[in-house]
Amino acid sequence: MSNIVLLGPPGAGKGTQAERLAEELGRLHLSTGDLFREEITRDSPLGRQVRGYLDRGELVPDRLVVAMVRERLTGDLDQEFIFDGFPRTLEQAVRLDKMAEIDAVIHIAVSETEVVRRLSARRVCQGCGRTYNVLLAPPQEEGCCDVCGGKLYRRSDDAPEVIVHRYAVYQEESRPVIEFYRERGLLAEVDGDRPVDTVFQAIKAAVNRVEMI
Ligand code: AMP
Repeated sequence: MSNIVLLGPPGAGKGTQAERLAEELGRLHLSTGDLFREEITRDSPLGRQVRGYLDRGELVPDRLVVAMVRERLTGDLDQEFIFDGFPRTLEQAVRLDKMAEIDAVIHIAVSETEVVRRLSARRVCQGCGRTYNVLLAPPQEEGCCDVCGGKLYRRSDDAPEVIVHRYAVYQEESRPVIEFYRERGLLAEVDGDRPVDTVFQAIKAAVNRVEMI
């Protein structure tokens, strides 16, 4: 089984790239952020437990994240995954290593200025979850989803002061994760400050390069 991990700060475009890569390579896209937001929307016990962390831009405790991922993986044992937003800490990386075989880890690097610029312009559809960027890819009608007509909202953790905090949390927590994979020869770095299509091509090339080693 070959699984791929996409690492990168919030706003690196991991979600968009993971979705495209999953489609192209025929794998499942597993975003822990999306799974948490679904739990919050359903107001499930897990959703109620994690809501505060997401609102503050803090990491959900490892045991909750790992338990959720494990449950997801055991439901699809013969599938290959693109992990998006997981692992975010060294502990999560060590636990993932025991649950699944990782073939390639792509780190999409983006500067803080670019992250703030992108995320403060991000809007999400309340109905179908589709994301827009009011600067780069706005909807046809302001505040309204092109696909389902749902109302667009700004994620509570996309407020500028929370974005800066999330970026700092990412830098601190993810450095050991990046080193963990670098030491194993699984890591490839991609410059994420470029347009979406350019970054996607670079990611595909990097996956091929690492998988061939
Ligand atoms: P994302 O959509 O990946 O930006 O994640 C949104 C939020 O979900 C993060 O700011 C965290 O609060 C939480 N989260 C998502 N994935 C993880 C993870 N692997 N570990 C801890 N918290 C996470």
